Amino acid sequence: MKEYYDVVVIGAGPAGSITAKTAAEKGLSVLLIEKRQEIGDPVRCAEGVSKICLKKHIDLDDRWICADVKGSRIFSPDGTMIEMAEEVAGAEVGYVLERKLFDRALAYESAKAGAEVFVKTRATGLIIEDGFVRGVRIMHRGEEREVRCKIVIGADGVESKVGRWAGIDTSLKPVDIETCAQFLMSNTGIDQEYCYFYLGNEMAPAGYIWIFPKGNDLANVGIGILGSKSGQKTAIEYLEDFVAEKFPDARVLEVDVGGVPVSGSIDKTIANGLMLVGDAARQSDPITGGGIVNAMEAGEIAGEVAYEAISSGDLSETKLGEYEKKWRSTVGLEIDNSLIVKNVFIKFTDKELNDLAHSLKNVNFSTMSLLDLLYALFKANRKLLWDLRVLF
Ligand code: FAD
Repeated sequence: MKEYYDVVVIGAGPAGSITAKTAAEKGLSVLLIEKRQEIGDPVRCAEGVSKICLKKHIDLDDRWICADVKGSRIFSPDGTMIEMAEEVAGAEVGYVLERKLFDRALAYESAKAGAEVFVKTRATGLIIEDGFVRGVRIMHRGEEREVRCKIVIGADGVESKVGRWAGIDTSLKPVDIETCAQFLMSNTGIDQEYCYFYLGNEMAPAGYIWIFPKGNDLANVGIGILGSKSGQKTAIEYLEDFVAEKFPDARVLEVDVGGVPVSGSIDKTIANGLMLVGDAARQSDPITGGGIVNAMEAGEIAGEVAYEAISSGDLSETKLGEYEKKWRSTVGLEIDNSLIVKNVFIKFTDKELNDLAHSLKNVNFSTMSLLDLLYALFKANRKLLWDLRVLF
């Protein structure tokens, strides 16, 4: 490890690895550090991802694609099912990944592009001089060190500290976080070509239960509930109840718990000499909690802006504002729209969810675009149409 780099990226998840890859491809010297000893492990993810968006960032590889999904089956609280083809379902879930291998493959891409990668290396603080971030304090295999650089990228996930160290408010209130629990299960007997979503406040308050196929009769069965609603029971208790009823003969092979930011865009993701990307910048989708693709999109923008800033010799917040501008006008727009929809949906009663599902029962989803679908949905429910009028 050198003492000086153009860019130090903290965290080797999808956001960090794509940022490091993009910056290294531009010819910058890049250090990517990861606190875990194994990139991608433990997994805190249902591993569903949109096909189109994924292909933009990496060549597909069967080694980390577990399931190629045809569509989604969504169940309202009374069991009414709506089936949507993958392309209609907002392209939210098209592949189910093996993230342990996927995250490693992304880090490998960054290494191939020239980035140095160090695992078991934790950032413990920032070096800040004259109001500029000038480097990172790290604990590298038991030894404290300082690494200096021109730009630091905070890609340290939902529990990010980097933003706070730089004076950026990344705090999340309970209503801004989806508390999740997930079992990797065998013997569920589900149709492996579909993802399943179960809605209902008794089952998953202001959230949902998902079942994502992982091939060979394996499935990720998980739940996300809004932090502000998790008073009565914990996420894992809700999940245990669901699983006991739905899959009495299935077996749990792995348990994951974690949080997803569903706050929508935060006010600021940059400082002098610093950018935040991915979950650290709260860029996950407020409705679905999906954050892999947004992290990759923002990471690419951050890598490009790092190159432009370093080439121009201007590392100021004003210059890095290009990153803010670009991500807010792309992934940020989707996040803002999702937040509006989320704020309406979390107020829905089970009866309202059932009414919506009933109104969609006769819709032909195979020929319908997502916009048509939303229109049909909202036409059936005038109040919803009114609440979401800003989207149209
Ligand atoms: P992460 O993937 O969290 O990576 C951050 C990395 O930084 C980690 O490897 C961490 O170890 C490292 N790190 C942290 N602190 C330090 C430090 N101080 N020094 C060095 N390294 C550090 N998204 C989807 O798109 N689809 C899904 O199906 C989906 N399901 C989910 C299910 C659950 C239960 C949860 C919790 C999340 C889910 N998400 C899903 C969200 C998705 O996992 C995240 O949005 C995505 O991983 C964000 O990528 P990232 O690179 O920003 O952060």
